[in-house]
Amino acid sequence: MKPEEIKQAFAKIQRRNLFAGVIGACVSGLLLLALKDSLSPENLLLMVAPMFGILLYVHLVNWRCPVCQAWLGRFFNVRECPGCKANLR
Ligand SMILES: [Zn+2]
Repeated sequence: MKPEEIKQAFAKIQRRNLFAGVIGACVSGLLLLALKDSLSPENLLLMVAPMFGILLYVHLVNWRCPVCQAWLGRFFNVRECPGCKANLR
């Protein structure tokens, strides 16, 4: 992969993370509005489930190096891949 392609692919991964986060926040917010008059433990679970699923997806599936698929770690502002040292930005 060319350095330019790696940077583009990584920018796409970051955008996908942000997008998934926004969707998750919206879904949880809507569920909160819909269920706010009947807050039971089951309903609370229902509210956090989409957010939790999205966090798992973002964290474990999406957040990977476009070159070697290594997990990129906890930081959103990562600069290089911890696996293959590819320059991501
Ligand atoms: Zn890598």
